[in-house]
Amino acid sequence: MDRIIRATGAEGYIKMAVVTAKDTVERARKLHNCAPTAAAALGRALCAASIMGNMMKEENASLTVRISGDGPLGGIVAVSDHMGNVRGYVGNPGTELPLRSDGKLDVGGAVGRTGTITVSRDIGLKEPYIGTTELVSGEIAEDITEYLLESEQVPSACALGVLVDTDCSIRAAGGFIVQLMPFADEGLIEKLEENIFMMDQLTTILDEDGAEEVFCQVLKGIDYHIVSEEPVEYRCYCSRERVEEALSAAGREEIGSMISEGKPIEVSCSFCDSVYTFTSEDLNAILMNS
Ligand code: ZN
Repeated sequence: MDRIIRATGAEGYIKMAVVTAKDTVERARKLHNCAPTAAAALGRALCAASIMGNMMKEENASLTVRISGDGPLGGIVAVSDHMGNVRGYVGNPGTELPLRSDGKLDVGGAVGRTGTITVSRDIGLKEPYIGTTELVSGEIAEDITEYLLESEQVPSACALGVLVDTDCSIRAAGGFIVQLMPFADEGLIEKLEENIFMMDQLTTILDEDGAEEVFCQVLKGIDYHIVSEEPVEYRCYCSRERVEEALSAAGREEIGSMISEGKPIEVSCSFCDSVYTFTSEDLNAILMNS
């Protein structure tokens, strides 16, 4: 089962969260029929959204990560609720590139090196809080790190990883974000950087030892304790009512032209495999109520 584990260290100067997301990313891969490179890109974005969403305190809040690069993937959307349950999709799930020279999936090449990352936080106010920064590499973890520093002024380190098995299923997936609180000691920063430089490959740790070992390696030599552990999963909140609301918002003219075609329309959810069918009578009822 996937989970998010949070820890605090160095007398509160360090906050760290690790997400394990093998089942979540496997569900996303199957739902969207993703090729390995596309699955890795979507999986990394889902892991980042999950950790950042789980950091929000407001009930019913949601967080959306949008990555628009100039690569063949055609953009990524990842949405998290305030617990870290996520959903998402990519523009072109069939995107597959040759492996990089180091044997890794070329996520940066699929996403594109030029573009933007936008994070919006909806905490139930009239307008969501939105921040945008330029992509650094399209590898996603670096882009998230830069976003957190530039847009939210929080110095962080982030790593995200998706390991795709030979049968194309997800063998391991997860990520972490470590944040430094203001006035953290310079020595502490150096220690963290050294630990992260020296650590084993994230997906190897997750695959072989589990999430606890990620804390051990990243926070090596630093006092820390686990403060919470919560289950997370791939979760879509779509419903017939929500689709009706969206149709209603499309406008009377739009609904009118759907009715005039005289046949039922099908609306597919972008995030899951739900399909909602509306007959002309259903559409008329929506028109009457809008
Ligand atoms: Zn759905």
